[in-house]
Amino acid sequence: MSAVIASSGESHHAGPQVQERGQRAVFCGLTSIIWLHRRIQDAFFLVVGSRTCAHLIQSAAGVMIFAEPRFATAILGERDLAGMADCHEELDRVVSELIARRSGINRLFLVGSCPSEVIKLDLETAAAKLQAKHENKVRISSFSGSGIETTFTQGEDQCLKSTVAELPTLEAGKENLIVLGTVSDIVEDQFRRLFDELGITDVHFYPGRKAGDMPPIGPGTRLIAAQPFVGETARALIARGAVLIEAPFPLGAEGSKSWFEAIAEAYSRPDDLVQHVLELPYQRAKRAVSSHRSKLEGKRIHFLPDSQLEIPMARFLSEECGLAINEIGTPFHDQLVMRGELSRLAPEVTHVEGQDLDPALERVRESRPDLTVCGMGIANALESEGLRTKWSIELVFSPVQGFDQAGDLASLFAKPLVRESILEVGSWS
Ligand code: SF4
Repeated sequence: MSAVIASSGESHHAGPQVQERGQRAVFCGLTSIIWLHRRIQDAFFLVVGSRTCAHLIQSAAGVMIFAEPRFATAILGERDLAGMADCHEELDRVVSELIARRSGINRLFLVGSCPSEVIKLDLETAAAKLQAKHENKVRISSFSGSGIETTFTQGEDQCLKSTVAELPTLEAGKENLIVLGTVSDIVEDQFRRLFDELGITDVHFYPGRKAGDMPPIGPGTRLIAAQPFVGETARALIARGAVLIEAPFPLGAEGSKSWFEAIAEAYSRPDDLVQHVLELPYQRAKRAVSSHRSKLEGKRIHFLPDSQLEIPMARFLSEECGLAINEIGTPFHDQLVMRGELSRLAPEVTHVEGQDLDPALERVRESRPDLTVCGMGIANALESEGLRTKWSIELVFSPVQGFDQAGDLASLFAKPLVRESILEVGSWS
C-alpha cells in the first residue's frame, strides 16, 4: 500500500506557531450529541449531568424540531460519596425505563460531564454492569463530554473511540476502507457514488447511519479522516491494524479532489480512470466556488479556536477563494490528522494552539479582520464592536464536505460579508 502513517512530533507548516494557555471560550463535548444523534439514527445519548448540562443540550438542539428526541439528561443532585450507591440505583432505574419505553434504540451512550458528583461516578463500570443486565436488548457504552476534558468536537472523538474495541476483526486477506468522522447522509451518498465509479468497494462510514454499522478492522483496513477532530479514534483504529491515508480534508474543489486522489492512490487505481471520474464533479465544484469568489477575494479572515476545522477551512479559503488569513487558532493541534493540510498553508500564517481569551480578542480588535470565525459566545461581543463574525458551529452542523457542497461552503463565508456590504450601502444612502 502506498498509504502513509503520519508521525507526530514534526510539523510541515513553516509559519510561526504559538501555544497559548489561559481562559477558553469553547463549548464542551456534550454539544457533539446534537449531530451524532442525528447521524446514528437508532442511538440514544443519556447525559449524566447537572441542570446546566440539560440546559446546554436543549438550547443547542433548540434549532431543530424533534418528534421524539434521542437524548436526555439524568440529573444528579448534590450528593456526598455515601450517596453514590443511590446514584447508581438512579441510573439503573432511568436506563431500565428508557429501554422499556424505546424499543427502537439499539445503542445507548452514557455521556459523562463535569459536575463533581458525576466525576465520582465510574461510568465505564456502570455501562458494563448495565450492559450485562440488558444484554440482548441494546449495546451500552460510555464516553466523556465533560467541559474539563473536551472541546465540543472532541465529544465525537470520545464517542467513536468508545466503540472501537467492539469492532469485529477483518478477515485475513480482505480489504476495506473506513471513512472516519460524521458526514451527513447526503454527503455519504455522493461519496459512495464516486467510490463505486473508482472501483473502490467495501467502504464503511464510521459512524454509520445505524448503531450496528460496525466496520470490521484489521491490517487490510485503510483509514481516511473526513473530519479533523477524530485523532484519538484514528489512533485506536491504527492500533488495531488500520493504515491511515494522509490527505487534506474533503473541503472545497481542491480539498475534495486531493482527498479522493489520495484514496485512489492507496488503492492503486489507474490515473486516467481517477481523472476521468473526478473531472466533472471537480469542474462543477470550481464553478460553484468561483461564483462566490468576488465577494471573498482580498478579504481578511481570522479564526479563533473552536471546532478544529480552522486549519482546513483556512486552507480552502486561501487556496480557492483568495482570502488572506490573519491568524488561525485551534483548540489543540493534532499532527496525525492535520499533516495533509499543513503543507498547503502559506508559510507566513500564524497558527495559535490553545487559547488565552483576552489577548486573542485584543489581536482581533487591533487587526479588525473582515470576518472572524468563532464560537457563539464571542460572536455577539465582536458584532457589537462592528466586526463581522461567523459561528464556527455552523460549519460542523452543515453538510460541507465534497464536490457538491463546495459552493455552499464558500457561500457560508460570503453571506456575512454580503450582509456587511448591504449595511454599508444602506448607511450611505
Ligand atoms: Fe457545563 Fe460541564 Fe455540563 Fe458541559 S459538561 S454543560 S461544561 S457542566
